[in-house]
Amino acid sequence: PLSGKSALVTGSTSGIGLACAQTLAAKGASLVIHGLVSDEEGNQLAANLAAKFNVDCYFVAGNLADEEAVIALVTRAQALLGRLDILVNNAGIQFTARVENFPIDRWRQVIEVNLTACFTAIKAALPFMQSAKFGRIINIASVHGLVASKEKSAYVAAKHGLVGLTKVVALENAEQGITCNAICPGWVDTAIVAKQIEAKAKMQGISDEQARRELVAEKQPMSHMTSVQAIADLVAFLASDSAATMTGSAIPMDGGWTAQ
Ligand code: NAD
Repeated sequence: PLSGKSALVTGSTSGIGLACAQTLAAKGASLVIHGLVSDEEGNQLAANLAAKFNVDCYFVAGNLADEEAVIALVTRAQALLGRLDILVNNAGIQFTARVENFPIDRWRQVIEVNLTACFTAIKAALPFMQSAKFGRIINIASVHGLVASKEKSAYVAAKHGLVGLTKVVALENAEQGITCNAICPGWVDTAIVAKQIEAKAKMQGISDEQARRELVAEKQPMSHMTSVQAIADLVAFLASDSAATMTGSAIPMDGGWTAQ
């Protein structure tokens, strides 16, 4: 159902982004994948996706903390694909410390990658979408775009900001055939979480398995994490024609986290 459409997924060489890229490709979209891996690794991954799903797929590198690189990424994606229908702002980073110990350079980095890069990518993509009178912008926010946790000031601020940005982009483009939504996952089993599990296990002298269980149970009523595939399926739905009037929403997929 997405054949003829083209997509850019940021941070798509691993985790949620990779699952999104695979799922959009499986539905027939041509795509640009992006991440921090070497050109060799990225090109290989793109070639594998292209062969497996019989779509055009390219890798473009770029550090999203750099505004020029974000603009170049979007421009290059549009040029390679000939159009840009779907933008998935997925790349994100985490850093944890209490506010009084939070280094300002870490704060800036989290805000730049998790929020400012999304703004810049949207800003660069909108003219293409507006002239095509079609666009699907999907921001991978977090439950931390809706509620807070201790020691995640920059991440929570960035994700709340991303949910706010999502609503403004939705309103400004409501009559342009462009939708903009945010997905708010709870725990998803990826590298970004593995680091937090390791840190907790080390600090408390417990096993990784116990740390994982305790970490999830702190906030999430359901004890299992969401799969990357479930998030990717929601992305594919938001990109589809069925979701044409869903816009400006922040959709939790969080095992009941924000129901409390
Ligand atoms: P991940 O670490 O596997 O993926 C993050 C991706 O972002 C990687 O591909 C990485 O290369 C890219 N990236 C990071 N910094 C970058 C930079 N400066 N420039 C370019 N690319 C950069 O983690 P993930 O869990 O798949 O995270 C994807 C998104 O989902 C993030 O925005 C994250 O905040 C969000 N999220 C994750 C969870 C979870 O539990 N895993 C929960 C809620 C939200």
